[in-house]
Formats: sequence, structure tokens, C-alpha cells
Amino acid sequence: SSVFANIVRAPEDPILGVTVAYNKDSSPHKLNLGVGAYRTEEGKPLVLNVVRRAEQMLVNDSSRVKEYLPIVGLADFNKLSAKLIFGADSPAIQENRVTTVQCLSGTGSLRVGAEFLARHYHQLVIYIPNPTWGNHTKIFGLAGLSVKAYRYYDPATRGLDFQGLLEDLGAAPSGSIVLLHACAHNPTGVDPTIEQWEQIRQLMRSKGLLPFFDSAYQGFASGSLDADAGSVRMFVADGGECLAAQSYAKNMGLYGERVGALSIVCKTADVASRVESQLKLVIRPMYSNPPIHGASIVATILKDRDMYNEWTVELKAMADRIISMRQKLFDALSARGTPGDWSHIIKQIGMFTFTGLNTEQVAFMTKEYHIYMTSDGRISMAGLSSRTVPLLADAIHAAVT
Ligand code: PMP
Repeated sequence: SSVFANIVRAPEDPILGVTVAYNKDSSPHKLNLGVGAYRTEEGKPLVLNVVRRAEQMLVNDSSRVKEYLPIVGLADFNKLSAKLIFGADSPAIQENRVTTVQCLSGTGSLRVGAEFLARHYHQLVIYIPNPTWGNHTKIFGLAGLSVKAYRYYDPATRGLDFQGLLEDLGAAPSGSIVLLHACAHNPTGVDPTIEQWEQIRQLMRSKGLLPFFDSAYQGFASGSLDADAGSVRMFVADGGECLAAQSYAKNMGLYGERVGALSIVCKTADVASRVESQLKLVIRPMYSNPPIHGASIVATILKDRDMYNEWTVELKAMADRIISMRQKLFDALSARGTPGDWSHIIKQIGMFTFTGLNTEQVAFMTKEYHIYMTSDGRISMAGLSSRTVPLLADAIHAAVT
């Protein structure tokens, strides 16, 4: 018998498992609103034109080889990624106080940051919002940090529990790490206002809490790369330290290329260079060095003014389509007279709507309408189209009446 005979079957991932179930459904009307991946009005995955163009240039450049990248990845990519999130005129960059390493998309960037903190930071507690992207708990826990939650979402208002957030962070042990979604909070779609961010910043700095930004949706929330980086830049402008994990999965549509970056903003250039030397020791035994293709695409686009501009236009079009789906769904529910207040659908921001539907209602919609979503009632607005909005509205209406 197998030496693995006693292995117990693990449950499917709560998010990716939705797609597994969807793929097994033979209904022609089935609709997958589980995974956070952009779809066109026709329901198709999208490769941006500017990405196709960059790939063509890379293919035609016969001087390109497939040698290993350095442990920290592609130098141009790292520099340009820091500029993208912190701003071209960021004093932290000008003073060489930032170290940026290319990692395996957002997840890998979070994990490398977490492993570094677990080895070298004095306070091993990290506070994550309740709720948050399910993978956060596991990424930080497996890296060896102790994971605690701070209040974030208020089910009664389907908005921010700002008082609860301030109380919980105010009561956190000094020096604690705090995970913050830079924008387009997943799964709730609820972000603090600029004024609330400023209060959070003051509280965190006064208590010496260390911000760790997860930026998986820059440009995807509002359509503006600068606006969506506002929270991060506020924390860098005060001269303090922070970490930021960036993903190009959504905003450049590079999901499967696994391209992202971890930046650590330090007090001095000397500290930043020592931090980078330790990041290399984290990365080398994990995967040696990151893949070259996706980072080359990003660097090609970010360093060329025309291509950069083309990207911002395509990015805004994706953000605008998502925003228009919010309005369409809200209007469709209003037209049906569906009981309840659905205004949170148009108030929330980013890829997801946290509908407020409960587990039973979600199960009902899957069984009767072949509509798939995570059991917490989160739907990906990017998976909707003008054609499918009425189907979803019918299903929600039936689920709540
Ligand atoms: N953080 C958040 C909040 C996310 O929603 C995601 C993507 N679902 C990620 C990080 C990381 O995604 P990836 O590793 O594909 O970049």
C-alpha cells in the first residue's frame, strides 16, 4: 500500500474552488462571479493591446536571452514599480531609501515581506482587517507571524466600521504590523475616505505600528493610478517606514504571468541596502530568482511614454466597465422592486461587491440559477455584462423574497 495511504483529502480553496464547481456545471446559463478576473462585455478574458504590443517587441528583439535574472529580479522593473506606487517625485525614492524586489505577483510579494518580517522585525504580531482576502491569514501565519484581526466592515451599514478600526488599532501592542488594503478592499469594496486615512495614519504613527500595504488593484478602483495610490503615498510622505506589495495581475491583466513587487521604505539608504541584502537570503532558497517574461512586459510599458499612456487608457476602460456594471445591477434590482437597500452596490469600489447575501442565499442562487460566487456573498463585478446583469438580478430577487 502507498506510503501516503493515510493522507486526508484537503478541502478546495474557498475562492478557486468556486471555479472548480463552475467548470463541472453543464448548464448553458452558468455564470462565474467567484474569481476576481476581468472579463469583457462578451464574457471573455482580456489581454490588453499594449501588453500584446510589448510582447511583440520582446519577441522581435533578437538580443534578448533567457538567462537567469538576479535574485531581486529585473532592475528596470523594480525601479519603475516603485515609481508607479510611490509617485515619480517621491522623496523616499530620490533619497534611495526604498528597496524593491520583483516577486511572484501580489501573493509572492506578501509572502517574501512576511518571511522577512518574521526573521528580522521585533514585533511578530500582524493585524489584518475583518474580513479580508482569505489568503492573508495563511500567508502571514505560515511565515511565522501571529495573525490578529481588526474590525473593518460593519454589516449593518455595509460600510466601514471606522470607530471599531480605530479602537482595535489603538489597542494593538506598540510596533505591531498592520495589513492595509491600499485601495479597493477585497472582499468588501469598502475603502476609508482620505480624511479617515489621515486619521489612521496619525494613530499608527503615534503608536509606532508598521504599515504593510497590499496593493493588488492600483488603477482598477477609480481608473486613476495616482488616486488609487493615495493611501500609500500619504504614509510615505510623513517620512516613516512601510512595506508595499504590488500586483500587476489585475491592472495589467497579467494574472498568470505572476508579476509583482515588494518595496520596503526605510529611514535611510544604508538601512534600505542592508534590508535588501536580507531579502535576497529570503528569496534564494524559496525560488532562486523570479521569472523574466512578465517583468519584461511591465518594464517595456512603464518606460515608454506612449505605451504608458495607452495602458492608462485601457486600464480606465476596465475600471469604467466595472463601475457601469454596478449601476446596471442596482437599476435592475430597483426595477424589480427587490426588497432591501442595495445602494451599497454603487457605493462600494473596485472589483467586488459584498452583497450581504448569506450562505443559504448564495447556495440557492447556485443551485437554482447556476450563478457561482464565494459563500460570503462576494461577487466579481468584472465577471458581469449587460447580458448577465438581468439573470443575476432575477436570482438575487428570488433569493431574498
Ligand atoms: N491581495 C489581494 C487583496 C487580492 O485580492 C489579490 C488577488 N486576488 C492578491 C493580493 C494577489 O493576487 P496575485 O498573487 O494574483 O497578484
